[in-house]
Amino acid sequence: MPVQNPLKPGNLKDPAIAALFSSKDPEQRYNDLREIGHGSFGAVYFALDNESGENVAIKKMSFSGKQAAERWADIVKEVGFLKKIRHQHIVEYRACFLKEQTCWLVMEYCVGSAADIVEVHKTPIFEPEIAAICQQALNGLAYLHEINRIHRDVKAGNILLTDCGIVKLADLGSISAACPAQSFVGTPYWMAPEVILAMDEGHYDYRADIWSFGITCIELAERKPPFFNMNTMSALYHIAQNDPPKLQSTLATGETAPWTETFYSFVDQCLRKDPEQRLSTRACLNHPFVAGTHAKTVILELIRRTKRVVRELDNFQYKKMRKLMYLDE
Ligand code: ATP
Ligand code: MG
Ligand code: MG
Repeated sequence: MPVQNPLKPGNLKDPAIAALFSSKDPEQRYNDLREIGHGSFGAVYFALDNESGENVAIKKMSFSGKQAAERWADIVKEVGFLKKIRHQHIVEYRACFLKEQTCWLVMEYCVGSAADIVEVHKTPIFEPEIAAICQQALNGLAYLHEINRIHRDVKAGNILLTDCGIVKLADLGSISAACPAQSFVGTPYWMAPEVILAMDEGHYDYRADIWSFGITCIELAERKPPFFNMNTMSALYHIAQNDPPKLQSTLATGETAPWTETFYSFVDQCLRKDPEQRLSTRACLNHPFVAGTHAKTVILELIRRTKRVVRELDNFQYKKMRKLMYLDE
């Protein structure tokens, strides 16, 4: 008899996999779905949970069609992992359902991502705001590293902010099963050189996340990661071949950038090409750039002033950013 493939998409014969999904109908439980984001997997929605009265985020991940087996394996991994984890700085799991070749992963609702926030503001956000986001995101990252996992997709779009002023690391779809790891996983512009080179040799470890974290700092300051104007293949080539990128001392407008030496030094120390030379996750948390910030107060104020800017956007821009306002409507 042929061995049953345990990863056949949607197959719930394995009790460990079946236990991840509720058999109830999610359409009955969640109302008022509105799209708030999308990624490689499908869309993420804002919704009301009519059992608890709470607002939630629902990530719908479909696994039909091409690559269904890989998608299913990724879904099982992401759900299984998020369900097990409880940490103040990692987005909280609520429930999970299967309906018509689609997984509904229900999570706590966050106002938006750090990428959304920097997109709203026409000028760079303030350095203490970047430091506050970094401090809290690093706490989530430090937890993952302590339990021997690599996030592998650290970027502003995967760092979420709650209305209570807490930063959460999200999108555990790329997390490694162990550290060190070997496969080519992540989003090109944020990828560490050793991850790019691991395509044909060697392993990499948690320090790949520190590189991506350094790139995320540049993204928070300059709104885009380095090489973002290039196609992904050229960007990968440049990351692997060039000296590490730096935080720019001149803004796109030609003005001198407002950053302190401490910020430049923090970014430089995250972006060493040799992983051994990079700051460790603990050392990042102890670095003066993040160590002294009162993150929660700063983030609450950042959210408040971001919403103020959104309210003043013209109609077209407002529609795009309206998702940041759902809790206020
Ligand atoms: P990627 O292409 O980065 O792999 P993905 O398909 O894995 O993306 P996520 O990163 O999990 O999807 O979600 C996509 C976007 O949806 C996020 O960047 C964010 O803007 C929004 N989002 C995700 N989860 C939440 C949440 N819990 N609360 C609010 N918004 C969320
Ligand atoms: Mg994502
Ligand atoms: Mg993802």
